[in-house]
Amino acid sequence: MSTQAELRCRCGDVVGVVTNASPRTVNRVVCYCDDCQAFAHQLGRADLLDAKGGSDIVQVAPASLTFVKGQDRIAGVRLSAKGLFRYHTTCCNTPVGNTLSPVIPFVGILAQAFDTEKQRADQVFGPPTGAIFGKYAISEPPSGSTGPNLPLVLRAIAKVLGWRLTGRAWPHPFFKPNSREPTFPITVVSRERREELRKKCGPHPVA
Ligand SMILES: [Zn+2]
Ligand SMILES: [Zn+2]
Repeated sequence: MSTQAELRCRCGDVVGVVTNASPRTVNRVVCYCDDCQAFAHQLGRADLLDAKGGSDIVQVAPASLTFVKGQDRIAGVRLSAKGLFRYHTTCCNTPVGNTLSPVIPFVGILAQAFDTEKQRADQVFGPPTGAIFGKYAISEPPSGSTGPNLPLVLRAIAKVLGWRLTGRAWPHPFFKPNSREPTFPITVVSRERREELRKKCGPHPVA
């Protein structure tokens, strides 16, 4: 059975579709890293982080995600010249996908983008399977989120490798097929700005 999940920005101008959506076909993990926190602050969307600064991320195969509306309202941010490409909408600053080069094919989407009137992320993808980078969590790290989580890492590697081997890297929503250039405009934040953002992140944010 093939299930489609809809992805929607807060204001509804940007809509995407994830095909083949199920707990088996994705990785859902809460990431506490300071980059994910910094990105939310860059967008002015700290409301999307949990109480400890976590981002609830659903990783999907690039080929399974297609934007069907509002493509002209998507832009990307990199926290450094070599950082992840972190895409968001320009209408309402909703994150719509983190990605690396097409060589390491995955797209990480904030679970809240799948919570719509008709659908809940939990119903489609099941609950998060774990948490990572707990050392950046605000105050006490959630249990099991610090040390290396081997089953989680192996599952993520297996998924990405599988997507690569089965041709699920292309078509990639965030890269052009021939030039492999980013599809949407990218801004790299300055070092000064990045340091400002870091202060707002765990484990000890400066008020
Ligand atoms: Zn929007
Ligand atoms: Zn992260």
